[in-house]
Amino acid sequence: MKKVVKFGGSSLANAEQFEKVGNIVWADESRRYVVPSAPGKRHSKDTKVTDMLYECYALAEVGDSFVEEFAAIRARYQEIIEGLHLEFSLEKEFEEIEKNFKAGAGRDYAASRGEYLNGIIMAQYLNFEFIDASEVIRFDENEEFDAETTNKILSKRLQKTEYAVIPGFYGAKKDGTVKTFSRGGSDVTGSIVARAVQADVYENWTDVSGFLVADPRIIYKPEPIEMITYRELRELSYMGASVLHEDAIFPVRKEGIPINIRNTNKPEDEGTWIVGSTCQKSKYTITGIAGKKGFCSVMLDKDMMNSEVGFGRKVLQAFEDNHISFEHMPSGIDTMTILVHQDDFVHKEQSVVSAIHRLANPDHIEIEADLALIAVVGRSMKSSRGTAGRIFSALAHANVNVKMIDQGSSELNIIIGVKNEDFEVAIKAIYDIFVLARI
Ligand code: ASP
Repeated sequence: MKKVVKFGGSSLANAEQFEKVGNIVWADESRRYVVPSAPGKRHSKDTKVTDMLYECYALAEVGDSFVEEFAAIRARYQEIIEGLHLEFSLEKEFEEIEKNFKAGAGRDYAASRGEYLNGIIMAQYLNFEFIDASEVIRFDENEEFDAETTNKILSKRLQKTEYAVIPGFYGAKKDGTVKTFSRGGSDVTGSIVARAVQADVYENWTDVSGFLVADPRIIYKPEPIEMITYRELRELSYMGASVLHEDAIFPVRKEGIPINIRNTNKPEDEGTWIVGSTCQKSKYTITGIAGKKGFCSVMLDKDMMNSEVGFGRKVLQAFEDNHISFEHMPSGIDTMTILVHQDDFVHKEQSVVSAIHRLANPDHIEIEADLALIAVVGRSMKSSRGTAGRIFSALAHANVNVKMIDQGSSELNIIIGVKNEDFEVAIKAIYDIFVLARI
């Protein structure tokens, strides 16, 4: 049995958190490959080391003094080393980093040092081998992650290594230039390592006990999700649910490796399992609800639209020419609605409208702003009758006017458009009918 375990920034924010991590790793000898983030916030007003590094490097880049900022970063690591009673120092590493900052080593290099240094401490603490991610995670000439080359290098390297720490978030090009993934990218590293060693499980340890059925800022103590498929997760994360970096799914999905989201502060909780497919029904008809505010709808009508070949293409052309991607496109017999992000659309609306008139010549165009989209996601919806009916009667009872409905052909997801101001009420109504009423 082989497990890859990734720990997020809040799990490694100070010595006390490191101790919890040590206990988790030592409790199970199959936890063989550890991927740490940089130290995160110790309390809500604290700053993550990654952000401190970005700020510090911004000063170095323009030739300003960064002495104080650098000392503050050093202090964060020193606090951890001393708190763990480790007998070693990062003096040499800091000297080298300072030199490289002055020489303009780049923003990515700067940010990556957060994970690099934390990885060294973690390896010392656990007594595991340290493997620098620059040597095993490869980016190509265009600065894109090179999945196949990485997999070759990393699997070969780890074949010889029984227990190792591989820092998250970064890798390097062939010439050694350090590159990072986007923010939160240690999740991606964990997934890449899991693929390379063909792990049985990729455990992703964070500060919540997995995914929740709905956003806790809207629902008081929402139920946790025990098991979710990759596809359900993709739908929910796209619509705003965030615990795991979106790109972290791809490397393990290919190999059918499950991801288990766990809580470092409550290791006894089972967390959420993210799997390829499952015969286990979700506890409720729905798996989760997520949503976002800030959409606009552009509604067109034209008599006999349904028989006009190429009408839809011409309309979409108007959006494409203005570099606007659309979210949804429900249509009726002589009507068609395009939903777009309000922020992208607002400056270009007149140019889009005139392009639609020119290209597609509709009878009428109507724009409505301040809409929210809510995704109700669940693999069990396919096999249960009346799900949509229940959603809409719950919304009607809550006095929410439904502006748009879109159900994908997979029956995995029903998207509902409501006014921004109805967003929270709508989510509560849907949560209540499926979770509290347990249907
Ligand atoms: N430390 C990086 C960040 O704050 C990467 C990570 O934590 O996953 O985004």
